[in-house]
Amino acid sequence: MFNKLRPDQMVDSIYDIDYLKLAEHGIKGVIADLDNTLIPWDTDEISQDLLNWVDALKSAGLKLAILSNSFSLSRVENMSAKLDIFAASKAIKPRRGGFRNIAAHFGLSPNQMAVIGDQLFTDILGGNRAGMHTILVLPLSKAEFIGTKLMRLLERFFLSRLKIDRKKTGT
Ligand SMILES: [Mg+2]
Repeated sequence: MFNKLRPDQMVDSIYDIDYLKLAEHGIKGVIADLDNTLIPWDTDEISQDLLNWVDALKSAGLKLAILSNSFSLSRVENMSAKLDIFAASKAIKPRRGGFRNIAAHFGLSPNQMAVIGDQLFTDILGGNRAGMHTILVLPLSKAEFIGTKLMRLLERFFLSRLKIDRKKTGT
C-alpha cells in the first residue's frame, strides 16, 4: 500500500499541470477531485480561471470528469452543470469503482486516465489502485471537513516517509 500512496506528479495547483504533455503521453481522460482541488471546500463559486482551464483541457481533446466523495449531490451536480462535465458524488474514494466507472463511461482504459486531487488517502491512493496516472495538488483552502483535518496529520506522516515536500513543485 505504501507505494500506492506515491503520486506520479506533484504541482501547486491544477493551473500548473502541463495537460498538453499529458495528452502527448497518451492521457485522454482526466478525473478531478472537486473540493479543495477545483474549488475551495467552503465555496460554490466558479472562477473565470477554472472555466478557462476546463475549456483548455476540452480543446486539447481531453475528457474531463469530477469524482467527489461529497455527499452533497446538489453541490456536485451544480458544478457538473456549470462546467458542462460528467460528475459523480459519494465516490467512496479510495475505492476503485468510481474511477473505473468514469473510465468505462469515456470508453478509456485506466492507463489513458489521469487523476488530480489534493488528498493522498482518497485521490492518490484510489487513482493509483485504479492503475491511473496520479497528480497531487496543494489544497486550495485551509477550511476542511473535520475528518479531513484529522487525515491531514496522517498524510503529513506518510509524505515525510515518502520524502515528499509538498511545498516543492515539479517531479
Ligand atoms: Mg479534495
